[in-house]
Amino acid sequence: TATIGILALQGDVREHAAALAAAGARAVPVRRVAELDAIDGLVIPGGESTTIDKLLRAFDLFEPLRDRLRGGLPAYGSCAGMILLADRILGGAAGQQVLGGLDITVRRNAFGRQVDSFETDLVIDGIEDSATSPLHAVFIRAPWVEEVGPAAEVLGRVDTGPAAGRIVAVRQGPLLATSFHPEVTGDARVHRLFVQIVRDSL
Ligand code: GLN
Repeated sequence: TATIGILALQGDVREHAAALAAAGARAVPVRRVAELDAIDGLVIPGGESTTIDKLLRAFDLFEPLRDRLRGGLPAYGSCAGMILLADRILGGAAGQQVLGGLDITVRRNAFGRQVDSFETDLVIDGIEDSATSPLHAVFIRAPWVEEVGPAAEVLGRVDTGPAAGRIVAVRQGPLLATSFHPEVTGDARVHRLFVQIVRDSL
C-alpha cells in the first residue's frame, strides 16, 4: 500500500484522511521533516495559503518539502493547496511564497469572497465515469487557474455560470491540483486518481 501524507498544519485533514482510506491508501499526518521523509505522496489541503506558507516556514518544512517536490514527490493540492503548488500567483498577500512545481498561474480568491462560494457539477479528464456521472464540486473562496504553461495539462473547467470556462483542475506529471474540495462530498474519485498517480510512481 502507498503511504500518503496529509500536510497537517491547517485545513481539513480528517476529511482527506477518510477519502484516502476510501481510495485504498494509508494516510498519515505530516508536520515534521521526518514524517515528510516517510511518505510516497502528499496531499496539501485547503485552508488559507498565506497561513500554510507561514506555518511551513515556522515548522522548517518549506525548503525540505520544496526539495522533495523538485525530486518528484507526487502531490495533490486542493484550493489553498493548489495555490501552494503553483509556480505563479495573482492576488497573493505581500511576501506570500509558493512551493511551486505546476506550470500554472493561479488567481487567488478568484470567484469572490466567502459568501460567493458555490457548487457545481464537473466533468474532469482522468476521473472514472465523470462524463456520465459528473463530479460534484464545492468551491470555497477558491482560486482558479488563469493561465496554463506548456508543461501542465488542463483536466477540467467550470461549464456554467459566470465562471464558465475557468480552469479548475490541472495535472503535471505527479502533481495534481483542484480549485475545489472533493474531500467534503464523500466522492473519493479524485483521491483514487491521486492514489493511482502515487502507485505509478513507486
Ligand atoms: N482563499 C484561500 C487562500 O487564498 C483558499 C481557500 C480554501 O482553501 N478553501 O488560500
